[in-house]
Amino acid sequence: MWILVTGGAGFIGSAVCRHLVGALGAHVVNVDKLTYAANPNSLKAIAGLPNYAFERADIADRSAVDAVFARYRPRAVLHLAAETHVDRSITGAGTFIDTNIVGTYRLLEAARHYHDGLAPDLRAQFRFIHVSTDEVYGSLGRDGRFHEDTPYQPSSPYSASKAASDHLARAWHQTYGLPVIVSNCSNNYGPYQFPEKLIPLTIINALEGQPLPIYGNGSNVRDWLYVEDHAAGLVSLIERGQPGEKYNFGADSERTNLGVVERICDILDRLVSTGSPRRSLITYVPDRPGHDVRYAIDASKARRELGWRPRETFESGLERTIRWYLDNRSWWEPLRHLYSGERLGLLEMTG
Ligand code: NAD
Repeated sequence: MWILVTGGAGFIGSAVCRHLVGALGAHVVNVDKLTYAANPNSLKAIAGLPNYAFERADIADRSAVDAVFARYRPRAVLHLAAETHVDRSITGAGTFIDTNIVGTYRLLEAARHYHDGLAPDLRAQFRFIHVSTDEVYGSLGRDGRFHEDTPYQPSSPYSASKAASDHLARAWHQTYGLPVIVSNCSNNYGPYQFPEKLIPLTIINALEGQPLPIYGNGSNVRDWLYVEDHAAGLVSLIERGQPGEKYNFGADSERTNLGVVERICDILDRLVSTGSPRRSLITYVPDRPGHDVRYAIDASKARRELGWRPRETFESGLERTIRWYLDNRSWWEPLRHLYSGERLGLLEMTG
């Protein structure tokens, strides 16, 4: 039976599709609108396989989504489609509201009507996995970690729109009995990430000898998870997650932003030396408005109840990621024309 993945042409969604279709041999239909963040080249390895299908559609287009449910009759939905870049959400929140909130609402409604019409055995099997972020929990101080019951305190338009969608997903479970599972994950990194996010932007700027921007003083802490470990965790939710429950994913890999950038410089200096240390490219720039100080995730529930474990440490995952960007210039070089690294998300840019 088919699994419906939304946002499967994006960074994490494509890892989920490659894992399901390539490694597990599952049948996947990928519904994606193909925004700037999508890249069909991320799916080249599976695009021609009979157990993979692609449907270009906006999740907010109810009739298009209904048609996908009717045609493929999926046993599960993995919902990843979203606008995801915090800086873009500061510059203009409209598409974040349209996709992350209204789009999720329409998808939930389509899933509810499909689920209601299923025979009892298929209805019992069906799952709707709503993929979200740890940013919904807001900012931590020096101590503590996010748990599944940590109250929501989103700081950015992006995290507020994700928080809203998490609440809708939960409500569709509580009110309508849709078997929804919500996952909240820390920052992902790995191959195929659009070079607007910290790690790929730093790798590519460093390779090109461009400045490496650090927001504020670089002391903000993020908790990093390798994308393929996240993809495996999401897939495990289909079989082992409990409807109505939340699961946090993270790999106990807290790093300051400055520490991440310095590490990338040092690995690149070792792999492709230019004679001058790349740390000299580090450039401090004005901080992000509302910049959360620290994220740290407690993923013990996912480890305990799903048997999930991250396979990569931050060191091994970062080196794999850097080597991938070195070996796959043809994937990212064309994207520099779409976005060449200019600053987004300062208040004077909003409107
Ligand atoms: P991404 O920006 O790389 O990809 C998003 C994908 O969604 C793109 O392929 C895009 O075309 C598609 N999309 C956007 N709007 C759409 C719409 N209206 N209809 C259909 N498709 C649409 O995102 P990502 O980093 O892969 O994140 C995927 C999900 O995981 C998101 O829900 C995000 O909130 C969540 N998440 C991301 C991270 C992270 O570090 N990247 C961490 C935790 C959770």
